[in-house]
Amino acid sequence: MDLFEYQARDLFAKHDVPVLAGEVIDTPEAAREITERLGGKSVVKAQVKVGGRGKAGGVKLAASADEAVARATDILGMDIKGHTVHKVMIAETAPEILEEYYVSFLLDRANRTFLSIASVEGGMEIEEVAATRPEAVAQTPINAIDGVDLAKAKEIVAAAKFPAEVADKVADVLVRLWDTFVKSDALLVEVNPLAKVASGDVIALDGKVSLDDNAEFRHDWDELHDKAAANPLEAAAKEKNLNYVKLDGEVGIIGNGAGLVMSTLDVVAYAGEKHGGVKPANFLDIGGGASAQVMANGLEIILGDPDVKSVFVNVFGGITACDEVANGIVQALKLLEDRGEDVTKPLVVRLDGNNAELGRQILTDANHPLVQRVDTMDGAADKAAELAHAAK
Ligand code: GDP
Ligand code: MN
Repeated sequence: MDLFEYQARDLFAKHDVPVLAGEVIDTPEAAREITERLGGKSVVKAQVKVGGRGKAGGVKLAASADEAVARATDILGMDIKGHTVHKVMIAETAPEILEEYYVSFLLDRANRTFLSIASVEGGMEIEEVAATRPEAVAQTPINAIDGVDLAKAKEIVAAAKFPAEVADKVADVLVRLWDTFVKSDALLVEVNPLAKVASGDVIALDGKVSLDDNAEFRHDWDELHDKAAANPLEAAAKEKNLNYVKLDGEVGIIGNGAGLVMSTLDVVAYAGEKHGGVKPANFLDIGGGASAQVMANGLEIILGDPDVKSVFVNVFGGITACDEVANGIVQALKLLEDRGEDVTKPLVVRLDGNNAELGRQILTDANHPLVQRVDTMDGAADKAAELAHAAK
């Protein structure tokens, strides 16, 4: 989950990374009182989860409360690279900025390590600096067990050639930032710019944080979720504890096991090439041991997706045998019909593995008008794609 700048700011503050005061608002008039409290001037900053807001006109200084309201009026509703601005942060203005640096920690999957990236040429997009002046960007691998203590932080500072007068302060910020990174289970913490201001202090003026969704169970991240931006189907699936990702195709997919579902997506996309280019509409892994209830929940989400024209249920019986799954499908359809759901989309079911024969027989006996049995994965994918194309 990516955070908004104001959320990153709050997280930094909690871990004693130096930041400026700031509050988030969604109506222009609210900028007045905050700006007055900040001493009559402020910075108005668009809150969108995309970089380059400054260049796009999403960061403006206001020299008075009136001006803050005017700038907030300009920025709220603005479109920045396809993101509509619904909130702005009214922040304390930085004392005169003398220099702008870049620092970050991230998970470097390719090299199976954590990585520090630091540059004295911050402010603008680091990708640009890295492309044009790679020697100005210091990349330092971080050992997961050793982490970043003061000695490691000094090594990063030296590698990036920070000026001597800020070296200790930057090293101190790096240690606190690493602490933020670890304690928050982040995949990325980035400060750009880390500004050197007239007093000689360094302050994090802009922050980008990406949290590891897999660690959510040990945090209280409820209020960090951007409910307005969430896909309604994904939100409904989350409510039901389903592992669901909305995609942009027409064939609804249900399977058990993430690996099987991933390969189902591939097989359907491939089959779709022969059938008008239809594609998978979602990823949905109902896991092992899926009950009729879980199958019903999954089907309900998928049948509720207006983009879905056919459904492919691809199950490999393991601990939960195919006969249980087959019963689950039959009961799930009945459950939905009893609930008054509009069950009209064709289902192609492929069962294999433990007790496959028994499971297939149960489907045959149930003789549900919407359900077709196809016993191979490729065959079933082809049938589901064909049906989706026909219904388009
Ligand atoms: P980004 O463009 O999305 O990365 O947004 P930033 O928050 O990094 O702001 C862009 C630029 O605006 C920074 O590099 C600073 O030069 C400037 N800026 C941000 N906050 C302040 C501030 O409080 N005072 C002043 N004078 N400039 C600021
Ligand atoms: Mn920035």
